[in-house]
Amino acid sequence: MKKIFVTQPLLPPIEDFIQETKDIFDSKWLTNMGQKHQQLEEKLKDYLQVGGISLTVNGHLALELSIQALDLKDAKSGNGEVITTPFTFISTTHSIVRNGLKPVFADIDPDTCCITPETIESLITENTVAIMPVHVYGNVCDVEGIEALAKKHNLKVIYDAAHTFGVQVKVNGETRGIGSFGDVSIFSFHATKVFNTIEGGAACFSDESLYRKLYNLKDFGIRYGNPDYIEAVGANAKMNEFSAAMGLCNLRYIDDALAKRKAIAELYREKLSDIEGVSLPSFNDPKTELVKCNYAYMPVVFSSDVFGPGFRDKIMAVMAEQQVFSRKYFYPLTNDAQCYEGQFSSDGANGSNPTPHAFKLANEVLTIPIYAALDLEDVERISEIIKQTVKQHGK
Ligand SMILES: *Cc1c(COP(=O)(O)O)cnc(C)c1O
Repeated sequence: MKKIFVTQPLLPPIEDFIQETKDIFDSKWLTNMGQKHQQLEEKLKDYLQVGGISLTVNGHLALELSIQALDLKDAKSGNGEVITTPFTFISTTHSIVRNGLKPVFADIDPDTCCITPETIESLITENTVAIMPVHVYGNVCDVEGIEALAKKHNLKVIYDAAHTFGVQVKVNGETRGIGSFGDVSIFSFHATKVFNTIEGGAACFSDESLYRKLYNLKDFGIRYGNPDYIEAVGANAKMNEFSAAMGLCNLRYIDDALAKRKAIAELYREKLSDIEGVSLPSFNDPKTELVKCNYAYMPVVFSSDVFGPGFRDKIMAVMAEQQVFSRKYFYPLTNDAQCYEGQFSSDGANGSNPTPHAFKLANEVLTIPIYAALDLEDVERISEIIKQTVKQHGK
């Protein structure tokens, strides 16, 4: 039986990649902000509808360097708190901690899987310096509510938009790219994401001064145009030319890929609706209109109230027996990660804020296969496995 994984990378026809990389062999310029890097920045700026963009070697370093570029440390205490979500990939939380800041975990709205202005606001203290929400699964946060909150309390906002490549929302009658919100929004172009550059990422912003700051930070902190001047403790986070070339190729096929994902998501929705105890999170914040969705993940929630605890893991195992490999995005919660034991906890131990909704969802959700090349017959088969398993093992 063929194996079906939770995702499969988007790949252009190999001829496209050969053609695109010929230029690199001719110029012998392999990295350090070459032609392809420049071209991809320009194309993505348009596609994502953002004011400015800086490409990076991955999404994680885009997060780390964005925090550094915004100088989030509280001047008085030398540290500061960043309000964020535990229902995310571990990268989000690590980026805060690795910058010497303290993550404070807000609970999620179980229906949108995102943190909300309400869950955020109650955690704001005089030590809060920023909010780092995540647009989970390609769904979006209440961007307007969060913006109003940030203004009111004078806080920076960095969106982890790793899942929301190409997503557009409508606010005040205006259609905007999701990367245009917050002080910075970061994307991941990892192989497993909707759009990939093999490994890669980007930070998007509207404050133009961030372009040079990030440019220097991803190049060891060496000042652009003055290699004798090291202005910051930077990292090496430059996107190389082969990755940028892959991005230029994949960008030609992204809209086709999004259309295929849409058809798959709609078929799953049709097949998996009306099963008692099985639900699909609603892909819209009640206050934010999603104009263009990217169907980055296909989360399915198996109610522990209906099936008892552990059913999600059981269904995952049954699917694996049929060579269908799903993933527990996101389990464990980042505030329950082993490396943070004794510091944070989803149950409120160690003085941390409890996140019961996130904890419940982390134990009930399974993300099932979705990618542009997935056959609709396989979508039907996967849906059938779920239905049959629920019938046999469920109540
Ligand atoms: C993938 C991902 C990242 C990290 O991106 P990389 O490109 O893999 O470094 C960060 N946050 C979230 C929510 C992600 O899914």
